[in-house]
Amino acid sequence: MQEQDNLQQVNLQQDNLQQDNLQQDNAHQDNLKQDNLQQDNTQQENLQQINLQQDNAQKNSLVPQVKGELLAKHEIVSRSVVKNLIREAKEGMKYAYTPYSNFHVGAALLTTKEKIYTGCNIENVAYGPTNCAERTALFKAISEGERDFSAIAIVGGKNGVITDFVPPCGVCRQVIREFVDPKSFLVILARSEDDYMVYSLEALLPLSFGPKSL
Ligand SMILES: [Zn+2]
Repeated sequence: MQEQDNLQQVNLQQDNLQQDNLQQDNAHQDNLKQDNLQQDNTQQENLQQINLQQDNAQKNSLVPQVKGELLAKHEIVSRSVVKNLIREAKEGMKYAYTPYSNFHVGAALLTTKEKIYTGCNIENVAYGPTNCAERTALFKAISEGERDFSAIAIVGGKNGVITDFVPPCGVCRQVIREFVDPKSFLVILARSEDDYMVYSLEALLPLSFGPKSL
């Protein structure tokens, strides 16, 4: 009887040992998984940070974002013309009517004959009838017989303080598209006369639906 008890105890001890090993294995695996997870997260965070740094570098860059054959066209719109257009957009912003958002926007539209039409955003208590600065400038020009345009500069900010680039809304992109060649028409987003980015309309409105699409 004594021997059997001893045997049972040995078996019990072996069971305990196996369980301990199992627990250790699980704990080890859990640690391993956590390590991998942490590594994955760190890698992802690093990647996100690199992307963010690249984005900021692009934003701060003065190099036009227009590529290839469009660069040549961009040379036609010289740096001094771009600066002047930005200055005019800032002038246009002064007339912004924005009692609801207090977000002022100004635009200056350049015709191929180098005439400039400015515009501001004009809000409405019913919200829907609000008109953007870009369309104000464009409608002014169209209403005076202009049909050929080469570029538009846009500036804006809360209470008229420019702190960042203000890209045109989708509606304005489509309305501009009606009258321009999206490959050559330039959209200039500016924070100042020396800090701006240039895009082709095509870059901002790819696969666009234009007058020739009907
Ligand atoms: Zn708009």
